[in-house]
Amino acid sequence: MGEVGGVVEGQVGLGVGAAEPAEAVAELLTDPRAGQVRECEAPDCVLLFLPAHPRRRWCVAGVCGNRARVARYYARYKDV
Ligand SMILES: [Zn+2]
Repeated sequence: MGEVGGVVEGQVGLGVGAAEPAEAVAELLTDPRAGQVRECEAPDCVLLFLPAHPRRRWCVAGVCGNRARVARYYARYKDV
């Protein structure tokens, strides 16, 4: 008895690696250019960024841009 529910104390709440850049996001949202803030298009990235160029799609093109390209490359092969 007393173990009903299955909720393990200490495991509830933020998981490992859930260090969200909340402060950075808050900074962006209070920025006068907040209307230009865009979400990174990389599938596994949740970062927001202020695009230096209107066509920019990733927070860091050299990282997320590459990863998105690689992901698309593998997705294409998976479909075949
Ligand atoms: Zn990104």
